[in-house]
Amino acid sequence: MGARTGKEYLEGLRDDRVVWLGDEQVDVTEDARFAGSLAGMADYFDYQHTYADECLMADPETGEPINVSHLIPRSKADLQRRHVALDRLARYSVGMLGRTPDYVNVTLAGYAGRRDIFELNGDTRAADALCAFQQEVARGDLSLTHTIINPSIDKSVSDVEGINGELAFRVVRRTADSIVVSGSKVLGTLGPFADENFVYPAHPLPPGTDPAYAICFSAPVGAKGVHTVLRDHYGATGPVADHPFSSRFDEQDAFLIFDEVEIPLERVFIDGDLEVYNSLNKHWAANVIQQTGLRAAVKLEFAYDLACRVAHVQNMDKRPDVMKMLGELWMFGSLTRAAVTAGEQGARDWGNGAVFCDDQPFRAIRTIMPTWMARTNEILRLLGSHNLLCTPTAASFEHPVLGPLVKRYLPGANGISAEERAQIFRTAWDFCGSGLAGRVELYEMFYLASQARNLQFDHILAQMDKEWTDYSSFLSVSGIA
Ligand SMILES: Cc1cc2nc3c(=O)[nH]c(=O)nc-3n(C[C@H](O)[C@H](O)[C@H](O)COP(=O)(O)OP(=O)(O)OC[C@H]3O[C@@H](n4cnc5c(N)ncnc54)[C@H](O)[C@@H]3O)c2cc1C
Repeated sequence: MGARTGKEYLEGLRDDRVVWLGDEQVDVTEDARFAGSLAGMADYFDYQHTYADECLMADPETGEPINVSHLIPRSKADLQRRHVALDRLARYSVGMLGRTPDYVNVTLAGYAGRRDIFELNGDTRAADALCAFQQEVARGDLSLTHTIINPSIDKSVSDVEGINGELAFRVVRRTADSIVVSGSKVLGTLGPFADENFVYPAHPLPPGTDPAYAICFSAPVGAKGVHTVLRDHYGATGPVADHPFSSRFDEQDAFLIFDEVEIPLERVFIDGDLEVYNSLNKHWAANVIQQTGLRAAVKLEFAYDLACRVAHVQNMDKRPDVMKMLGELWMFGSLTRAAVTAGEQGARDWGNGAVFCDDQPFRAIRTIMPTWMARTNEILRLLGSHNLLCTPTAASFEHPVLGPLVKRYLPGANGISAEERAQIFRTAWDFCGSGLAGRVELYEMFYLASQARNLQFDHILAQMDKEWTDYSSFLSVSGIA
């Protein structure tokens, strides 16, 4: 099939999926509350055709067009090709959609490039299955979410001890040609709007862990026994102009319950091998943060432009305090882009001929990004103040009584019309303050694990690498010791 259109994507969602909103079982393809989100996702699929030169490439075997995010990078030129596509795809939602399918596509392509890890202990079946799955996803243009975090209810023990162990995903039974999995995961962003839940390792499992927990597989969202339990929906109805992001980009997170779900072995990629499970993600950041870094750069650059307009429409863009905040936003975007460039320049063969970026700048931006994203929203709120809420709808400007009044009493400074002023502040509010914006900020804080965990991890790796300017050399150069 190759790269799908939006229409084809929507048709693919019509299956037996069990989706819960509150205590109600819903059909997301028919329920009006999800129409905006689904239109937003469908437009993403069409967008890849609009920018086909950048976003699509020929499948190496069949020649049909597939999304460039499926490329298994074997050279710096491949990474550059992927950069162009990922940057373009991020612009579709200015980075407000975190889980467009290119995210998990990049993860999966990285795993296929490192098939050697899956066969570390001789399991060629698993490696073959993973590579076949990657081709199936690329050629069918399937939309994947990843569900990798166990619902660690008790934070004082590991993910697989005590009550956590009772709830985490694990193999509960086997048949001759399948495993049967029960357990739950938090969260699956895009959960009800994806074709497949791809389940792979997040945090390493402690030595001696029951192999039943060491699994990696994919299951259709509509598989028997899968319950997709939605958080409240933050999508807004009404014209896109009134809610530029909420009207289309609520990518809908979900809590997932697997109740005895049968997974055929063709979709099982790790089956109890703790060593493979704990080795799989050593290259993950080096591969995937090219995608997440570009999305963040596009988003932060957009935020800078938006904030400049918020300042200009109030004629306060020359005020030193305002310029300082605008400069801060510019810095976030520039440093993010610079980190992506540095990562790409330091690309190398990470094994098996798979070329990924240098992970050091990537790990650094991963860790600082939650702070920058939260500060970006704070700056927009500081600059916007009450104006963020004094925003007539597009329709009010057309109303015979209200229209002339709001045009007269709510114009922008600098000769900017009332309509344009309202659009700027509506866009800003939906970016930094609306219900969806609050959820997006939480996503930015946690989707790559918590900042606390990443800081600890960065420190541990730094101690292993020992490549920094160190104390002893200074003493030695200074003739002190
Ligand atoms: C909107 C959203 C969407 C998500 N989408 C997905 C998805 O699609 N797929 C998926 O698999 N997961 C998803 N997640 C889950 C996400 O991956 C987890 O929330 C993330 O890994 C953090 O998990 P945690 O709460 O266990 O973090 P922890 O690392 O336990 O952090 C929780 C809190 O404890 C603090 N903390 C942790 N360790 C320490 C320490 N040693 N010292 C001091 N403080 C500490 C942290 O600062 C943080 O405030 C999503 C989360 C959100 C919010």
